[in-house]
Amino acid sequence: MKSIGIIVPCYNEAAVLPLFYKETTAVMDALADRYQTEFIFVDDGSRDETLKRITELSMTDARVKYISFSRNFGKEAAMLAGMEYAVKHDYICIIDADLQHSPSIIPQMLDYVENQGFDVAASRRADREGEAKFKSFLSGSFYKVINKISETKISDSAQDFRVMKRDVVKAILSMPEHNRFSKGIFSWVGFNVKWISHENRERAAGETKWSLKGLLKYAIDGILGFTFAPLKLTFFSAGLLCLFSVVGLLYALIKNIAVEGYAPNLPLTLAAVFFTGAVILCSIGILGEYLARTYTEVVNRPKYIIAKTNTNVNHFTLEGE
Ligand code: UDP
Ligand code: MG
Repeated sequence: MKSIGIIVPCYNEAAVLPLFYKETTAVMDALADRYQTEFIFVDDGSRDETLKRITELSMTDARVKYISFSRNFGKEAAMLAGMEYAVKHDYICIIDADLQHSPSIIPQMLDYVENQGFDVAASRRADREGEAKFKSFLSGSFYKVINKISETKISDSAQDFRVMKRDVVKAILSMPEHNRFSKGIFSWVGFNVKWISHENRERAAGETKWSLKGLLKYAIDGILGFTFAPLKLTFFSAGLLCLFSVVGLLYALIKNIAVEGYAPNLPLTLAAVFFTGAVILCSIGILGEYLARTYTEVVNRPKYIIAKTNTNVNHFTLEGE
C-alpha cells in the first residue's frame, strides 16, 4: 500500500473548506484500498474561521493534519511547510482549497506517476475563461518576458496543482531560497513531467486572495529569482548612452567649427543630464533589488512560523501550553 499526502494551502477559506473536504474525501475513499491518505491543511494565518473548521475536521477524521502559521506568510510558504511535513509519503499532492482544482483528476495523476513512468503529474490550465481580461493580459505578458530572458522555462498555464514522487519533493526542499517562486522552482528541478489539461473552474466559495499588487510582487520575485538579465539592462543602457553622447559631442564639435558663435543650448544639455540620471537611478534600483534579495537570504530568517499544529513538527508554543 502506497501513501499520499495532500497539501492544502488555506488563507481565509472557511466558506469553502467543508465543500472541499467532502469532494476530496469522496475521491480518496474510492482509492482507499490502494492508497493511505493524509491531509495536510496549512492555515496561512487566516483571519476567519478556517482553523476552527480544520480542527473540527481533525477531530472526526484522523487523516486530517493541520499546520497553522502565526500570520500570513503567503501561499509559497504554506506549500513549503506542507512539503516539509509530507515528504515522508510516497506521493505528495498540492491542491488549492477553493475547488478550482478538481480533486477528481487526482486518481489520473496518481496513475501517471505510479504506472506510466512520470515523476510528476501537473495540471495545466486549458483556458483562461472566467478570469478578468486585464489579469489574463498581464500574466500573459509576464510569461512572455520571463521566458525570453530566463533560462528556466516557465509555462504560462502551469498550475500548482500536482502529484509528485517523494524524490521530486526532496529536490524541491533542497533549494534553500527564501524568495520562493514555486513555478520557477518546480520547473528548475526538472524531472519527467506529465501535463494534464484542466478546465478553469469557478471558485466554489469565498474570494480570490490575489491582488494586483500581489501579482506584481509575484512577477518581480519570479524574474529576479531566476534570471540576472535585468542587470544586463544596466550595461545595455550604459552602452546606448555612450553612443548618444559621442554622437552629440561630434554634432556639437562639427557645428561649432562650421557655424561661428554656436554653443550647445541649455535644453539639450538638461535633457542629457536628466536622461543620464534616470538611467543611473534605474540601474541602482535593479542592483538594489538583487541586493535586497541577497540580504533576505543571508539573514536566513525562518520561512514561516508555526503557531499551532496537530503534527509532530517543531513549532513555537506559548508559555504554559
Ligand atoms: N493562499 C494561501 N496564502 C495566501 C494566498 C492564498 O495559502 O496568502 C491559498 C488559498 O487559500 C488557495 C490558494 O492559495 O487555496 C490559491 O489562492 P486563490 O484561490 O486566492 O488564488 P487564485 O486561484 O485566484 O489565483
Ligand atoms: Mg483560486
